[in-house]
Amino acid sequence: MGAKGWVVLKLLMFQSLFVSQSQEDFDFFYLVVQWPGAYCDTKRACCYPTSGKPDADFGIHGLWPNYKDGSWPSNCDPDSQFDRTQIEDLVSSMKKNWPTLSCPSNEGFEFWEHEWEKHGTCSESVMDQHEYFENALKLKDKANLLQILTNSGINPDDGFYGLSEITKAIKDGIGFTPGIQCNKDPERNAQLYQIYLCVDTSGTEFIECPVLPRGRCPAQLQFAKF
Ligand code: AMP
Repeated sequence: MGAKGWVVLKLLMFQSLFVSQSQEDFDFFYLVVQWPGAYCDTKRACCYPTSGKPDADFGIHGLWPNYKDGSWPSNCDPDSQFDRTQIEDLVSSMKKNWPTLSCPSNEGFEFWEHEWEKHGTCSESVMDQHEYFENALKLKDKANLLQILTNSGINPDDGFYGLSEITKAIKDGIGFTPGIQCNKDPERNAQLYQIYLCVDTSGTEFIECPVLPRGRCPAQLQFAKF
């Protein structure tokens, strides 16, 4: 091979290195939001954050990289520690939109650290720590789920609503079918616990879900007061 050939080959090798490094190692994200009333009315203890009772609104649980086969990566980079100095400008919004409910009462950093370490570190090929939290906040804001539901007459009033009615309201509002997850209150009634929305690998656009999580919801479910 002549000198020119070598240069072309080296360029190609360099390019393939670059392409393989920038490729995502997951297929899509779930944005998982949670109804605080359903986290708090189970037998498990719930503690309001130090800033007080959260708004009666869906709170972010996490932005989770996932595979199309339903499995997911976790704890991908033990060297990438949660660093609160990188998200200082987001903390007040996180306290409002990503409230911790675990006990003992705390500000939320433990919850956010857990989400970063378990899920966020698996999306480092496409976003850094600041972008990870910022993208989740923007997506939650864009989804506006409580407004979508209340506009369809589905209110957090301890009433029972059809699973298909809830699913349809969200599909009509966002354009994509959500995953709905239930848990049980102390009277063993199934209730709306978490909503899963699928997001593209850039972490910015909602997409149709490649696979929906198993939601354990019956045809009628309660929407708990909070
Ligand atoms: P994950 O590990 O991200 O799949 O989420 C499950 C963990 O998050 C469990 O340990 C839950 O108890 C915890 N968790 C879920 N929701 C909250 C919340 N609002 N505040 C604090 N911890 C939570």
